[in-house]
Amino acid sequence: MNIPLKQTPNYAPSNTKKVAIVLHFTLGGYTGAVEWLSNANRPNRSSAHFVIGRKEGEIVQLVKVTDIAWHAGVVSNPNDRAKRIMRKNLDGSWVNPNQYTIGIKLAGGYDVYQDGTVEPNENDITEWQYQQLTELVKSLSYNPDTEFVLDEKNIIIHGDITDYKEKPEIVRTELLKRLFPLTQPNKAAIKAQIISLINQL
Ligand SMILES: [Zn+2]
Repeated sequence: MNIPLKQTPNYAPSNTKKVAIVLHFTLGGYTGAVEWLSNANRPNRSSAHFVIGRKEGEIVQLVKVTDIAWHAGVVSNPNDRAKRIMRKNLDGSWVNPNQYTIGIKLAGGYDVYQDGTVEPNENDITEWQYQQLTELVKSLSYNPDTEFVLDEKNIIIHGDITDYKEKPEIVRTELLKRLFPLTQPNKAAIKAQIISLINQL
């Protein structure tokens, strides 16, 4: 994949091989998200390795995969899915997940209600976003600068690590469907069907 690199100041230089992907969903559109994540003058500086917008052409890399992006640094009541890949320090505390994960943000998609509240709408991911996300995740699995292995356990969502953060569960499910179109039970079923057909010959 040919993704333009537009280095953000919001990162920590590093030389670590990331092993997992954290999916995020941004409130608001692509341009605003990229601007926010590239701004060093905000109180809560944050970033991500990649941002994928809703329209064709809207994809950018903000942080090199060997460097640390600031996307999932706060651990709060992590769930079992997160714990399968999370690392602990010798004293039992959590290692900052930013050190070993790649952050990918998908631009919203949001609903604005009459009272002015805004809700992210993770159902509203576009086909372009799904295609780019699928290709990106695949490409990261054979990128020698990462140690990311294409396995469902290595793909989590922000809310898995930080319980009060966004939970793009639908995005993860659809991504897994596209990455692994034939699950093992399906393969077994197809094999059984072929054998049964051969036996009928
Ligand atoms: Zn997030």
